[in-house]
Amino acid sequence: MSDHATVNEPSMPEAAMHLVPPTAPTDAVVTSTSLCTKGKSASVVRHVCIDVGGTPLEGRFLAGQSFGVVPPGTDANGKPHKVRLYSIASPGYGEDGHGRVLSTTVKRLIDERKPQRPGDDPDDHGLFLGVCSNFLCDRKAGDVVQVTGPAGKRFLLPTDRQAHDYVFVATGTGIAPFRGMIHELLVGPPEGTPARAAWRPSTSSITLVMGTPYTTDLIYDEWFAGLAAAHPNFTYHTVISRESAATPGRGAYVHQYMDGIVESLRPTLAGPRGLIYLCGLSGMQVGVYRMLARHGLGDQYLSLHEELDGVAPDAWTDDQLRRRVHATRRCMVEVY
Ligand code: FAD
Ligand code: NAP
Repeated sequence: MSDHATVNEPSMPEAAMHLVPPTAPTDAVVTSTSLCTKGKSASVVRHVCIDVGGTPLEGRFLAGQSFGVVPPGTDANGKPHKVRLYSIASPGYGEDGHGRVLSTTVKRLIDERKPQRPGDDPDDHGLFLGVCSNFLCDRKAGDVVQVTGPAGKRFLLPTDRQAHDYVFVATGTGIAPFRGMIHELLVGPPEGTPARAAWRPSTSSITLVMGTPYTTDLIYDEWFAGLAAAHPNFTYHTVISRESAATPGRGAYVHQYMDGIVESLRPTLAGPRGLIYLCGLSGMQVGVYRMLARHGLGDQYLSLHEELDGVAPDAWTDDQLRRRVHATRRCMVEVY
């Protein structure tokens, strides 16, 4: 690796981990909850704010980390429900500026029942409701929830934010960490809070590419559009998979859209300051990896095994993608 690339590898902050373990969750209080999709969407996604003041989580979480929620009750085997993780959608200084109130972007898991394992009745198509997502979305301000965390130490903004330019790529609720990160880069702590004094708006180049099935599924859309209008260094792209392909950004997945705008991304991605962050559906990283490699932009973001020398990115097999293609320290990936 060249010296040039080495000096521009991001240095990451130390992230506190598992201050509240899943074995001993702590009480926290929902402070507000609101729908955060754009319109009359068939999917229900809520922005849920939770006061963790007085718990070990207070002031100790970072944008990009997750926290756990332990729903009450027991599972089908009579065991207490297990913890579920949710991405923190707030900046590290919290919704309140004091690191007491964190937020997340939670999507209700609602579906018809489908067979999950051999032996499941294929004719059972009753209503399936995910336990924790619906528990969390049902909560009102003032309700108590049991939380754990924080978790995750790599999907973070670098220590020196000004040393880098950013390409954030989300699908669906994968937008959550980017709300917190972009808040830190462009909005900053509320006036009057201690963290505000040292904060300066980022002058880095920041691009967000957000993919959803329909326009009405876009999350925090007005907020991002408002920031893009106010900050010339921030560009917000929406990519809608299930609407007409006649319009740019429609009828496409995020990587296909990025293919079309690659020349506008090139200065950031080919430069020594570029970082790329991918969050959302498992599998979305494959298209982005191929797109980067096809355009000669992969070197800084992907480490390829020599077995792939001379193999066109579109010909990489699933096995090669799993074992022979790895993200470098300049490519942060959080998919599941
Ligand atoms: P569960 O009750 O756990 O049900 C899900 C399980 O039910 C599946 O695993 C599957 O086995 C089964 N199932 C699914 N569909 C059906 C069906 N149709 N019929 C029968 N069985 C079915 N989610 C968010 O909304 N926002 C976030 O920010 C977020 N961040 C995350 C961060 C990380 C690091 C991780 C790992 C996960 C994150 N999740 C997030 C997902 C979240 O943790 C939960 O998995 C999700 O909310 C579903 O949990 P649940 O309890 O509602 O569903
Ligand atoms: P959603 O609203 O359904 O949006 C997902 C979008 O991605 C759709 O437009 C979908 O298109 C498209 N898509 C499907 N396959 C793709 C591929 N291979 N490459 C690129 N785009 C693709 O999303 P959601 O229901 O919120 O789900 C988001 C996912 O993110 C979930 O799996 C969630 O668990 C995960 N998530 C992860 C984290 C994390 O790891 N920290 C945090 C939050 C969410 P079509 O549906 O039209 O095919």
